[in-house]
Order: sequence, then C-alpha cells, then structure tokens
Amino acid sequence: MTTLVREKQTYDVQYYVQHVYETVKRRNPNEHEFHQAVKEVFDSLLPVLVKHPQYVKQAILERIVEPERVISFRVPWVDDQGNVQVNRGFRVQFNSALGPYKGGLRFHPSVNASIIKFLGFEQIFKNALTGQPIGGGKGGSDFDPKGKSDGEIMRFSQSFMSELSNYIGPDIDVPAGDIGVGAKEIGYMFGQYKKMRGGFEAGVLTGKGIGYGGSLARKEATGYGTVYFVEEMIKDHGFSFAGSTVVVSGSGNVSIYAMEKAMQLGAKVVACSDSGGYVYDKNGIDLQTVKRLKEVERKRISEYVNEHPHAHYVQGCSGIWSVPCDIALPCATQNELDEAAATMLIANGVKAVGEGANMPSTLQAVHTFQEHGVLFAPAKAANAGGVSVSALEMAQNSTRLAWTFEEVDAKLYEIMKNIYRESIKAAELYEASGNLVVGANIAGFVKVADAMISHGVV
Ligand code: NAP
Repeated sequence: MTTLVREKQTYDVQYYVQHVYETVKRRNPNEHEFHQAVKEVFDSLLPVLVKHPQYVKQAILERIVEPERVISFRVPWVDDQGNVQVNRGFRVQFNSALGPYKGGLRFHPSVNASIIKFLGFEQIFKNALTGQPIGGGKGGSDFDPKGKSDGEIMRFSQSFMSELSNYIGPDIDVPAGDIGVGAKEIGYMFGQYKKMRGGFEAGVLTGKGIGYGGSLARKEATGYGTVYFVEEMIKDHGFSFAGSTVVVSGSGNVSIYAMEKAMQLGAKVVACSDSGGYVYDKNGIDLQTVKRLKEVERKRISEYVNEHPHAHYVQGCSGIWSVPCDIALPCATQNELDEAAATMLIANGVKAVGEGANMPSTLQAVHTFQEHGVLFAPAKAANAGGVSVSALEMAQNSTRLAWTFEEVDAKLYEIMKNIYRESIKAAELYEASGNLVVGANIAGFVKVADAMISHGVV
C-alpha cells in the first residue's frame, strides 16, 4: 500500500470516527460523562480501524455505543416516619458479546442516565480485559444511603430488587456493588431476589457475604488489584511501592484496600479523603482507624484527627492533590482529578498515577500526565480486579466450591499482571509504546468486536 493510499484511508477513518462520535452526542444530549467515556475510547481506535476495515464495515462503533437494553424504573419505599419516598432505578445492559452482563450497582444522589451509561460503557472493555466470560452492564439509583437507618436501606433495597429481578439472572445479568452498595445492601437485595424467585440462585449477585456464597478477597479485590497493576507498571521503570510516598483519594472500599496493599508492599500512605475533605498524616495514615471510622462506625474522615492530633484535616476534597507524593491513586469518583490538580501533582514530583475509581481523571488531566512523562494506569485496566474476583465468585457459585483467600488473591494477581502485559503489547503493536490508555482500549475493544462479528448482526 502506498503512503498516499494509507494517508487517505486514515483521513477517511478519522472522519468516520468523528461522525459516529457526533451522532452519539446528538442522540444522547446532555450526557457529558457518557460522551467523555466514548471519546476516550474512540481516540485510541484509529490505527485499529485503519488496519482492520471489517470493524468499520460491520458498524462495530455504531453498535457498541448503543446499549442492548436500558431499563429505568420507579423505586417507591416508606421511610422511618411513614412517608412514601420515590427514587429512580436504572440498569443498562450494554453488551453481552462475551458473556452475561456484569457490573455494579451505585446508590448515590448524583446517579442519572449519563453516569450509568458511562460506567456501563467502560465496563464492556474492562470486563473484556480480564479474559473472563462476562459482558458489560451497570445500574443504580439516585437514592442516598447517607444518614438512612438500616430499616430504610433494607426497604429501599427490597423495592429496587422487586423490579430489577425481572431482568437479571445468573446467565443473564449479574450485578455487584459500587459506590454506596456494599455487602449489606447486596444481602438485602439477594434476600428479596431469593424470595421473589422461590429458589436459591447464588450466582445472581456478586459481592455477597462469605456465609452464603460470597468469595473471599472480593472486598479487597479492586484496591489490591489496582496496586498490583501499578506495581507491574512502575517495576518496568525501575521503582516500586517500597519506599514510595502515596496519596489515595476517598476512604471507601477501593481506597481502603488500595492503602492496605500499598502499605504491605512498603509504601507510606500520607493522605486520604472523603467528599468533605482530606487528612494528611506525615507519619503515615493509620489504616485501622480509617477502617473503623468508615467500615464500622460510618463516620466522616474529619474524625481521624481526634485520635491522631498530629495529623491535619483540610476541608474540600480536591485539595488532596496538593500533597506531594511519588504515586497518586485516585480511588473516589469520576472527574475528581482535573488539569489543575494534575499540574500540581507534577510540580510536586509525582512519578505514577493509578486509577482505582472509574474515570477519576478528566481527559485534560490524562493528557497533562502523559505529556509530562508521568506513568499512567487507566481505570479500565487498573481497577479491573473487582470485577475479576466477581467473575471468580460466579465460578465458585456454579461449581459449589469455595476457594481460600490465598487462592483467590493469587488468581487476582495473575489476572492483573496479564491485563498489564496485554495492554503493553497492544500499545506496542499499534505504535503507541508505553501508552496504557491506548493499549487497554485496543486490547479490550478487539476482543469484543471480534465476538460481535462472530455473532452476526444482532
Ligand atoms: P465507596 O465505598 O462508596 O467509597 C467512595 C468513597 O469516595 C467515599 O469515601 C466517598 O466519601 C468518597 N468520595 C466521593 N466523592 C468524592 C470526592 N469528590 N472526593 C473525595 N472523595 C469522594 O465506593 P467504592 O466502591 O470504593 O468506589 C469508588 C470508585 O471505585 C468508584 O468510581 C467506583 O465506580 C470504582 N470502582 C469500584 C469497584 C468496587 O469493587 N467497589 C470496582 C471498580 C471500580 P463520602 O463517604 O463522603 O461520600
């Protein structure tokens, strides 16, 4: 092929990708998070589409941005004062080319169609990267569990599941937890599903309690997995968590276990946060205090300084990125780290960033890191550990076996190393050496696209 022909093809494909992206924006107005997630993937795919015109011919881009099914429903429940409350529930069944839809449920007041669609879209590629037989989906509600009693959370979860149960099943769609949904909420939803179906289908939800079909190491999986992934990446560049200073945003499930693994590997974690502000402890965060405050007492992170008076609490969560560190792990929520924060981290000498949360860095922040040579581990690769162990939980449920913590953790470690290697390899193959954003997007996309072509136009 002459250079001229190749240039013309590249131009045509670029035009085509832009056209599909404009259609996504037009068809899904005001869904900014969804647009952002689509753009990030599309920006990586140009060389793949030029090399493999069958993806264009088969309209894979047009099909992959359209969820297979979007379910939106009313969730009525009664609060402790006897008032009727109404929330909105969602489940987006995005893509089942590789297996049953799989992805978490988020209970947070910010939840809307755009948030669930961006999360569901990301999940397609993340799940493909794990190498396990799972498609992509996501769901949730604008219900705010903060300040609610156990009874209110139970009644809400039951009402949510009463409707959702019509659309899920161990071979159809297997939800898990996410922000605001932990083992407690999963337990209430599992109980309601069991009652409605009149049978015990363990594989319908993951993140269950250990006593009734949950997997050991599921709770730890996303945080541990993120650190395993980042450790692989930084080892390739001659350093490690050992002796590094680390900042971790959030203090929820992902953050706590990212901190734990980073500490086990010899890092000093000096700051963590919640949506109200952050704590800085120059001696290193005391993880037992954070676990008790957040997992048991469900209190604010500001209370940390009552027990550790030498530490500082600063109001406003975005300030955490002004704390100097070698490695930053954003583990809280989407778009929590913008260009200004990236610039501040770089000025303070950050060497690596690993995304534990979904899409925590804005597109501009990612470009800023990459332009300044900061090693960057994108969410859909780095935080795939949670869904990987969820798929291991499904495997244990269907064989009616339970593996030890060490067995699950060892499998998780291998999966994360493999995702890193596949992403690096795909980036190299498409002349973007070392760019894990491009590598992860391409490696995930190719698996899904090939399966979609095998299934015909459905
Ligand atoms: P979680 O247990 O509910 O914790 C979320 C944490 O982030 C809380 O500490 C919350 O504080 C904090 N937070 C929220 N907004 C914040 C902000 N703007 N700045 C600082 N902190 C903020 O949720 P999670 O399960 O850890 O999930 C965290 C992220 O990881 C999400 O993006 C999720 O989609 C992603 N993820 C989770 C899993 C999983 O297995 N759980 C798997 C893959 C990806 P408040 O308590 O004040 O709200």
